[in-house]
Amino acid sequence: MSIRKKAVKEIEQMMFNQEKIRNIGIVAHIDHGKTTLSDSLLAGAGLISPELAGKQLYLDFDELEQQRGITINAANVSMVHEYGGEEYLINLIDTPGHVDFGGDVTRAMRAVDGVVVVVCAVEGIMPQTETVLRQALKEKVKPVLFINKVDRLINELKLTPEAMQQRFMNIILEFNNLIKKYAPPEFKSSWLVNVNEGSVAFGSAYNKWAINVPTMKEKGITFKDIIDYNLSGNQKELSSRVKLHEVLLDMVIKHLPNPKEAQKYRIPKIWKGDIESEIGKALINASANSKLVMMVTKIIIDPNAGEVATGRVFSGILERGMEVYLYGKKKKAKIQQVSIYMGPDRVNAEKIPAGNIAAITGVKDAFAGETIFSADISQDEMQPFEEMKHYSEPVVTVAVEAKSMKDLPKLIEVLRQVAKEDPSVRVEINEETGEHLISGMGELHLEIIAHRIKEKGVEVEVSNPIVVYRETVESNSPVVEGKSPNRHNRFYFTVEPLDKSVYDALANGELDPRDYKSNKDLAKSLIEKGMNKEEARGIVEIYLNNALINMTKGVQHLDEVMPLIQEGFHEAMEGGPLAREKVAGVKVKLVDIKLHEDAVHRGPAQVIPAVRDAIREAMLNAKPAMLEPKQKIFIHVPQDYMSGAIKEVQSRRGQILNMKQEGELVIIESKAPVAELFGFSSAMRSSTEGRAIWATEHAGFEKVPYELQEKVINDIRKRKGIGG
Ligand code: GDP
Repeated sequence: MSIRKKAVKEIEQMMFNQEKIRNIGIVAHIDHGKTTLSDSLLAGAGLISPELAGKQLYLDFDELEQQRGITINAANVSMVHEYGGEEYLINLIDTPGHVDFGGDVTRAMRAVDGVVVVVCAVEGIMPQTETVLRQALKEKVKPVLFINKVDRLINELKLTPEAMQQRFMNIILEFNNLIKKYAPPEFKSSWLVNVNEGSVAFGSAYNKWAINVPTMKEKGITFKDIIDYNLSGNQKELSSRVKLHEVLLDMVIKHLPNPKEAQKYRIPKIWKGDIESEIGKALINASANSKLVMMVTKIIIDPNAGEVATGRVFSGILERGMEVYLYGKKKKAKIQQVSIYMGPDRVNAEKIPAGNIAAITGVKDAFAGETIFSADISQDEMQPFEEMKHYSEPVVTVAVEAKSMKDLPKLIEVLRQVAKEDPSVRVEINEETGEHLISGMGELHLEIIAHRIKEKGVEVEVSNPIVVYRETVESNSPVVEGKSPNRHNRFYFTVEPLDKSVYDALANGELDPRDYKSNKDLAKSLIEKGMNKEEARGIVEIYLNNALINMTKGVQHLDEVMPLIQEGFHEAMEGGPLAREKVAGVKVKLVDIKLHEDAVHRGPAQVIPAVRDAIREAMLNAKPAMLEPKQKIFIHVPQDYMSGAIKEVQSRRGQILNMKQEGELVIIESKAPVAELFGFSSAMRSSTEGRAIWATEHAGFEKVPYELQEKVINDIRKRKGIGG
């Protein structure tokens, strides 16, 4: 039996022993060493040869990922580790580090109970460290900290033992401040990492050594010893004394929860059903002796097996051939294969119980976020998992066309697949014109999607990227009347800017309307965020970060008509008056209404256009403005190339927000409009001779400068063929 086969059998047995399981993810700012770490862990666990680890990048199996050298898909792998004389099963999910793919991180968080946050010792905590840590904490996923690339502190920055310790303390302090800020209230203190307890480790993923304070004491190793090993080029010996995978996986087992512990506090957060019900109890207890409940966190299209859904089993046992029900799709399906991932290989298994991560086939049409449960649970009884939330939105669009007409039907099929594999992509299919739109988080994201389409065998023509704008208003409109086509119904609206504090909370995910069961509860939060009480109490709904508010009192038949008014509101918010771009940050107030007595005369064809057009007209009377998406760019560049990098940002309407010096490197924090960032990568490379590295992050929408508004509007109208 090969090592791998043996491991699979072992793993199947171990899956039933929940106390000995850890479901974990590794998260990091891009380039801080997450892939190298995953790789070295796998090597240690005997799944790949140690010589290859570090070169092979086992979890980056996608060809494209290899080329670009960054992790894009969340893949997962199961491995075995011995701790305190007992064997543990670690299910590891690899997560992407580029925020363009932030959606994948959020989904991966649902499947795990703990994360190892990797922070580069040289760069320290970076903005995406904060983003991924916040995502984990929101899902009640517990963190531990690994400070990586310590070899560079020694060999490049030549730090003394004291300076090195000081740097670690600073990183830990900053890390704990983030935990205090974002952790659920009950864990704000117990989840802080503690260097003496060993929930912080430091080392070198690349050179495969790691250490923490308890290990230093146990083995009598000092900071000075570590420095000596490094300076004398003897990291190999250090890595045989303090093996990376041992220290890391020991830390995981000791400090991160098993699925039984974790589901107790995670289920009430991620599942909306009654936790006193039979299913509720089974979920809370991660009970295998119960009916199957699973949540899908990722779909991969496998060339041989078709759609493969990966997810977490929260209760019961997953078995080949069983009948299940897909909650969202409202249909039954039969599980064909049940398998686990060992890196790129999907290996078939027989049974996978609660508390584990599994892959299944046969559930065509399942999507990331779908709740799957045993067909013998009554559908009325079952409640789905909370929707997974994403905090960034697509801001760049490309049009794709099939090169050859005969590929048209295939292209549509492939686009649907792509949208399914990556829910942070939006696809708009237009069968009439054959021009389909794909929207994503940034230029790189869309390049990758285009590449995936080609890989699936369709030659496509991809347009230049188009930026997605928003429309808003800057002042209050007068009351505007909207008449229905039959002139029997009249609607009176005003629009004005949505309170800034409310808008900000909506845009950054702090306030999410989906969290509220009733408008009464939502109103409370709106008031807390600073909305006027009377308005908040009239809240009808929030749509695309715009509020619809009913200020009328005692109007007859209003309840009947309200759903149609909402539809008109949606249409207006989906296409604003300036360029039919989506609207954001607007407060729409219904101030009066006159309805025809007879329901026949106040149907959809009367109400919807009247409402939509009135809102658009009101917006035109309230200083309408265009908003453009911005990106933050964090650049690391050697001093000598700094001016080239700064020029590159400033020539793109960019602002420099902050600069600091770290040894030879300068760290530049800047912000620029997405519209100006096309071709940024190659321009930056040539102006810094390839010496700069950078990461980008969505930074919300801001007003297009006054002098550019008209041109932006005209260009969009021309592109969309809007007259006038
Ligand atoms: P990811 O983007 O977080 O997955 O980062 P990678 O694992 O791809 O690592 C980014 C770069 O840092 C690669 O060139 C690695 O070889 C390098 N790297 C990772 N760990 C270490 C380390 O411990 N020491 C040094 N010197 N380089 C490392």
